[in-house]
Amino acid sequence: MTRVLLVQLPIPRQNFGRKTGNVPLGAACLKQAVRNLSGVAVEILPESVVSYLADAALVEAIRDRRPDVVGFTVFSWNIERTLHVCEKIKAAGGPRIVFGGPEITPDNALPRTPQVDFRVHGEGEAVFRRLLSEPGFWANGSAAESAADIFRSAPSPYLSGWLEPEAQRLMLLETQRGCPYRCGFCYYNKSRAGLVFAEEEHLLRAVAWAVERRIGEVYLLDPSLNTRPNLKRLLAGIGRLNAEKRIRLFSEIRAEAIDETLADLLAAAGFTWFEIGLQSTNPKALKIMNRPTRLDRFVLGAQRLKQRGITPSIDLIIGLPGDDLAGFKRSVDFVADHGLQDDVQIFPLAVLPGTDFRKRSRELGLRFDPHPPYTVIENRGFSHEDFLRAYDYAETRLDLVFFPLPDLDVSWRAGDAEGGPEKASDLRVRLGGRQFVAKLMLNRERSLEEIRRLARRLTQPYQLLIGPGVGGAYLKNALKIVTTENPFTPLEVVLFEPSEPPRTRELLSAAHLQRPHFLDGDLRFLFATPGNRAVLFTLVSTDRAARFQGEMERQVFWWQKPALPELRDLAEFEDLDGILIDVPASVQEIIAWQDRFGRDVAEKHHISFADAHLQRRWLLLASPDEYVENVMSWEARISDDAESEGQL
Ligand code: SF4
Repeated sequence: MTRVLLVQLPIPRQNFGRKTGNVPLGAACLKQAVRNLSGVAVEILPESVVSYLADAALVEAIRDRRPDVVGFTVFSWNIERTLHVCEKIKAAGGPRIVFGGPEITPDNALPRTPQVDFRVHGEGEAVFRRLLSEPGFWANGSAAESAADIFRSAPSPYLSGWLEPEAQRLMLLETQRGCPYRCGFCYYNKSRAGLVFAEEEHLLRAVAWAVERRIGEVYLLDPSLNTRPNLKRLLAGIGRLNAEKRIRLFSEIRAEAIDETLADLLAAAGFTWFEIGLQSTNPKALKIMNRPTRLDRFVLGAQRLKQRGITPSIDLIIGLPGDDLAGFKRSVDFVADHGLQDDVQIFPLAVLPGTDFRKRSRELGLRFDPHPPYTVIENRGFSHEDFLRAYDYAETRLDLVFFPLPDLDVSWRAGDAEGGPEKASDLRVRLGGRQFVAKLMLNRERSLEEIRRLARRLTQPYQLLIGPGVGGAYLKNALKIVTTENPFTPLEVVLFEPSEPPRTRELLSAAHLQRPHFLDGDLRFLFATPGNRAVLFTLVSTDRAARFQGEMERQVFWWQKPALPELRDLAEFEDLDGILIDVPASVQEIIAWQDRFGRDVAEKHHISFADAHLQRRWLLLASPDEYVENVMSWEARISDDAESEGQL
């Protein structure tokens, strides 16, 4: 029996328990494609496990399954971490490794390493079948083969129960592969020749399944829904299945294609949100990126959606060749002037492997970061400062925040425990039936051997909660140990009432993190200094005069008064980055406070609670669609099974 394990690593996040959108749909399609091959057992590392483990725990989870073959789906946000994981699992011989996904392009050297035995270009199903049924096929090292026939007539893999739609209350439905457009910044149009559409019967069966199970949200993965033949018939069918609007549908569409009839059908089907790429209104930039756009028809289409209660989410790109700061500002004004600013996403141009822009980067004057996510640094129209000015302008004009700081969660207390952080134990969560540490307490100088053991059981991300009196060389040693085991995992260092202000520069130099980290590129426009955007420092103090608010630093007031704060009290601390509420009130009183203030207050103030269960309740109340409830089921005690297995 050949044991195959399929793995897809998530986008790194800075809040534990946040939804990651890391649905291994590609893996499920592969599993489906080989379901009738004898002598093959395919397992998908569950989304609810793989998305929340730090590097070392992830490597162990893969090794524990003793696979013969491991297949990884690689994107710009996970390729470097995936290569690190491969290095670890290959260290002692290890399984054969296959890479597939959008990062596998002919011009990308990153995956061409000895750890990767085979690279799949484009669709994977047909190549995967051959790898598992023709042993000699491995010798090719890489391959590309159309899977059009398999895709067209395949049922959604959700129906076989291989994915976990309940984890994020989300189902992804692949309706089409290939794209007829040829945008210069995009690789999708090159990943397969021609278009192929999933059969309507299978799509409707999948929608019926989602409606019956009240999945919540269904995302039709389609680069441009409007290109589908007989789209109106499909929409009418979905509308009949979803007549009671039990599910909300999302997708992507060209706004110019939306007429009154199509808009009516989309609303009747249950669509509530569409991603619409405008990218720019600058004619020169549109021409260079090969994306002709009729702006008058674009506005009409987007407004037709709005009139029916469907949010058009408009995408703009900063740093396009042919554009400049003035041109970008005009694009922002265009969106605002036409009342389309409800939801706007602004991305810096990524010069992705395999794209026309990558091929022509020299000719187009694009200077970009060679590391993922390949963000453009400057071009002929934009200096580095222009990117910052562009974001500033867009935030002011659209009244949006594009780089919010992570949510505040400095809780430490769980269950019936009492007292401050100096008395607390590690906080653990259960993932895939085993315990992992999400909040590691350094409230005393624990042995470094113990820290080393715990470092292999951490979540992604994780927190080091540092009690008063712990610091100096010990803290640096501990930081070095946890980051050496987990060089790609973001972390937060929370310092409770330290005797002196933390020397973050020294602590950062002790951390053995991958640099540049993906977040160094992704958060380039949040803070100027690279090398520390994966480590957040939070100081919690009753001394509001202390100042700790540099890059990736925040200061939180420790509210230890007898009563819960009122609105006017919260307003007093607006110059700080948040409040930790630690009062002798009963659970019922705190719940009543949370219900009274709710989302309105959470939008204005970063608030945390000392009790981890109440903190979880607050996060779910304040950001109901952003967190996965089950993942944050805190356990303060080591479970019997973990102890007996020596897991922790
Ligand atoms: S950006 Fe969208 S429309 Fe353009 S080529 Fe890519 S998938 Fe197609």
